[in-house]
Amino acid sequence: MRTQVAIVGAGPAGLMLAQLLHGYGLESIIIERHDRAYIERRLRAGVLEQGTVDLLHAVGVGERLAREGLVHHGIYLQFEGRRHRIAISELTGGRAITVYGQQEVVKDLIAARLVAGGQICFEAGDVSVHNIDTAQPRVRVRWQGAEHEIECDVIAGCDGFHGVCRPSIPTAALRVYQKVYPFAWLGILAAAPPATHELIYAYHERGFALQSMRSPELSRLYVQCAPDDQIDQWPDERIWRELRDRLALDDGWAPAEGPILEKSITTMRSFVVDPMRYGRLFLAGDAAHVVPPTGAKGMNLAIADVRVLAEALADWYRSGQTGLLDAYSATCLRRVWRIQHFSWWMTAMLHRFDDDPDGFQHQLQLSQLRYVCGSQAAATTLAENYVGIEQV
Ligand SMILES: Cc1cc2nc3c(=O)[nH]c(=O)nc-3n(C[C@H](O)[C@H](O)[C@H](O)COP(=O)(O)OP(=O)(O)OC[C@H]3O[C@@H](n4cnc5c(N)ncnc54)[C@H](O)[C@@H]3O)c2cc1C
Repeated sequence: MRTQVAIVGAGPAGLMLAQLLHGYGLESIIIERHDRAYIERRLRAGVLEQGTVDLLHAVGVGERLAREGLVHHGIYLQFEGRRHRIAISELTGGRAITVYGQQEVVKDLIAARLVAGGQICFEAGDVSVHNIDTAQPRVRVRWQGAEHEIECDVIAGCDGFHGVCRPSIPTAALRVYQKVYPFAWLGILAAAPPATHELIYAYHERGFALQSMRSPELSRLYVQCAPDDQIDQWPDERIWRELRDRLALDDGWAPAEGPILEKSITTMRSFVVDPMRYGRLFLAGDAAHVVPPTGAKGMNLAIADVRVLAEALADWYRSGQTGLLDAYSATCLRRVWRIQHFSWWMTAMLHRFDDDPDGFQHQLQLSQLRYVCGSQAAATTLAENYVGIEQV
């Protein structure tokens, strides 16, 4: 097999990259470890920044998003039994976020790729990348019962945090920055209409809780748990009890309950590698960086990376100049670090820290929350980061 860009991974980064390259008249092949049904069902992020929504429209996959996406103009912060609204759109000149599940974005991008005749090798086994420091990189893969070698000009490593691309780079060539948090999120999808129109981020002495949604009939809710908790330690009744306690208001408000359709625990880390490139291998999305989900940024950041990468590749093929490709890593890392800071800041403000013997951390968090909710300047800082900063 031969293509211009071999893309490892059919998550938001890989699929969007293929769609953007197609728009520039460039060929790609996507190599994905799982089958189509699995990746179209995988429940993950669900908050799209304005820039992500605009890009999905620009590449021709915005039709269902426009129909089914839930546009939000604010979020709630809740602490000390009271709820405060951050008016995101008012504070950012009318920008908004859209709630639309990551698996829906993935479905739309896969459908568009296949309609356009693009190739996605699902259920690819033993994927490995070779000659990445030469001008003839290769991807080897077992697919449909045969071994294949894909010749290409460039490899895009869009294979997530646990993929094969980043570990193929010599360790000495990468600087790794990492922070692992002493808590995790237990997330559920429940057949219950969300009890508020907008997301609620709650800071509570029992731990963080978040009420989100996927549709007018489906709620997505999270509670902070211990990083080593197992899912069987969390029977449904315990989850609802914690959600009721942590999301309760002094006036008796409580979240709507319903059958739990899915539940899982996600550990939380901040992670960055620098540079996001080695020779002809370019890393994008979770393969290069991970953020804790509190800022709702992982998928948005993955899509922002491949936008830069697609423009740089298009310029290289068109002009033969390597300037934009050479700047790829530094350009992306400016945004990555802004979002790393925002995600860490939201996480530090909203979670319970067990290692806080005299309550010092707790008092700082309360003070920060009161400031964000009481000062227009502080609320604007949150709002413009949450909705997505265009120029970082
Ligand atoms: C379990 C989980 C839950 C999350 N929940 C939230 C959330 O609630 N809110 C939020 O804002 N963000 C969440 N995120 C973050 C967000 O979903 C990610 O940032 C986003 O998926 C990044 O997109 P990506 O395309 O870079 O990587 P991914 O979506 O991880 O896609 C990588 C793709 O590569 C494939 N792959 C991996 N290895 C190989 C290989 N060797 N060969 C071929 N293919 C391979 C994978 O199957 C996958 O399809 C979550 C992430 C995870 C992992």
